[in-house]
Amino acid sequence: MTKSDEIGRHFVATKTIEKDTILFSENPLVIGPKWNLADYEQRSTVVPCVGCFTDCQLGQFYCEFCRWPACKPDCPGLGNSNLHGLECGVLRFGRPPKPGDDPEMFFDYYRYDALLVLKCLALQIRNADLFDQLINLESHYNARKNTRYYADADERVVSYLFRNFLDPLQKLERKEGKIVLKMCDRKTLHMIGGILEVNI
Ligand SMILES: [Zn+2]
Ligand SMILES: [Zn+2]
Repeated sequence: MTKSDEIGRHFVATKTIEKDTILFSENPLVIGPKWNLADYEQRSTVVPCVGCFTDCQLGQFYCEFCRWPACKPDCPGLGNSNLHGLECGVLRFGRPPKPGDDPEMFFDYYRYDALLVLKCLALQIRNADLFDQLINLESHYNARKNTRYYADADERVVSYLFRNFLDPLQKLERKEGKIVLKMCDRKTLHMIGGILEVNI
């Protein structure tokens, strides 16, 4: 194991490795839907269930607590603390569109490309050690800062998450004098975005 400025921590082989050799396997830190969505995917009425990620129809069933789309009201993934249980408590701070609202409001509210970033952020509530492992991965934060990717993520993911969920959550934290998300600022969210880009 070694480290370089360019690619961060990495392994270097000490001998030639045959093609298709499995070197090691690891459990995922976080499981979530795809985070780099094409334009047409951002405006699709077929969306992944927040509990189990199977395709479901926007507007059919929801998680009863946060009102994000689910394949059925009792999907087992909804209460699973490794799956939707990770972020459901944060998503509950949002104000989802209601049936009959403009379809554009639904596409704008249910941003699946922001969900994986939120799941990574929420990992610190359930498992601080795993979150530390994740946040210490290479994010290329400084190199990304003045790029189009950063500007896109700033609007599409970071501002969106604060506006809808994290601002109201932090307001409640201040009111109650109790912090649940210790690392929760714009830089942390951008770092997570960079980590997903570099490491997935
Ligand atoms: Zn499901
Ligand atoms: Zn939920």
